[in-house]
Order: sequence, then structure tokens, then C-alpha cells
Amino acid sequence: MFTQDDLYNPFGMDEDCRNCPALAACRERVVHGYGDAGGEVLVIGEMPSAGAEANGVPFTGDEAGRRLQRVLGDLGLSRSAPDDPEPELQNVYLTYLTRCRHPERPPTDDEVANCEPFLNGETRMINPELIVPVGQRALEALAIEYTTRAPDSFDAEAEHATTVRGRGFELLPMVDLADLTESRADEFVEHVTENVFSRDYRQTKGRQGR
Ligand code: SF4
Repeated sequence: MFTQDDLYNPFGMDEDCRNCPALAACRERVVHGYGDAGGEVLVIGEMPSAGAEANGVPFTGDEAGRRLQRVLGDLGLSRSAPDDPEPELQNVYLTYLTRCRHPERPPTDDEVANCEPFLNGETRMINPELIVPVGQRALEALAIEYTTRAPDSFDAEAEHATTVRGRGFELLPMVDLADLTESRADEFVEHVTENVFSRDYRQTKGRQGR
């Protein structure tokens, strides 16, 4: 059984990956996933922000990261202050569709496809129950993988703080962090607390009791 030594990149993924030449040429570093490798909740964004890239930990290092970390704290998934550069997370894992950042543009579809084996590997090893796609791009990418709905039928704004049933996972869409106002963050926390954590959301996937 896998035992975790470190919250950062617990699966020892390649930190010198060059499968996207344009990204490898301008990134400061690869930002692989971070958190509880046995977590029931998996949070997936599009790409590292400048703050996350500088800090080396997903969803940290800037205001956007603080917004997400505050939500995790409110849900009991973090024991740290929202601005902690290395938050102490439990039952949640944070990662991206692409783990290298271009300072001037979002990743291309090819770059997302290049990076998919890393995301797939993390998802298989973590085997989460709940997936939180952050922003429209992550929502559409996960919709292709895990639902039968057409990706363009999803709207992160409209589906924020709702539950979308998928194949093997429930998706809990969240708006892009730039749009996560305090009231939208509260809506998300309230939805998850009252409609998800309050019931048995675990699917029959052979997970051992925590
Ligand atoms: S985005 Fe992913 S696949 Fe592309 S270079 Fe970075 S780690 Fe490798």
C-alpha cells in the first residue's frame, strides 16, 4: 500500500518533463499535485497561477490561492491559514490539467493532452469520490472524461455550487478563482456542507474506511 512522505508530488512525477517544448522553455518549474494522496476530494484547475508557480504549491502564493484555501479551511479540509505557503491539507488533493505555466497564454489543447497522463495517474492513484473542477476549462475537460453530457453544455457560472453526477465521481464545479467572490465562496461551502458532506457520497469503489 502507498504511504505518503510528502504533501508535494507524493507520487514522484517527473519534475523535468519537457513534453510541451513551448512551456518547458518559459516555465519557472513544473508544479505537480499537492495534498493527501488518499483524499476523497480532488481539486483540479487549468494551470498554475504566477503565485503558485513561484511558491511551487498549487493554489497558493496569491489572492486566488487564498480564496481556494479559505474554502478548504471552511470545509475542514485544511488546518492552515489561507495564506500558508505549505498548507496542511487532509482528505483533499490539489492539481492541474497542465502543470507548467506560460506567462502570456493558457495552455493549448495539445498541451492539455500532453499533460493528461500525469492527471490520469494522480486520479487513478488517489481514486477520489468528489472532483472539484475550478473554472470553465477544467469543467469541460472533466465533463469529457466523467459524464455523458456534451462538454459545451456545461457552464461553470451556472453550475457553480451544484453537484453533477458522473461516472464513478461526483463533480462539484466552482467558478474561476478570479470570480470567486466571498458570497460565491460561501455558496460553495454551504452546498458541499449541506448537500454532499451530510450524506454518504462514497461510491462502491472498494475504498477502505478512513
Ligand atoms: S504541461 Fe505537463 S506535459 Fe507539458 S511540459 Fe509541463 S509537465 Fe510536461
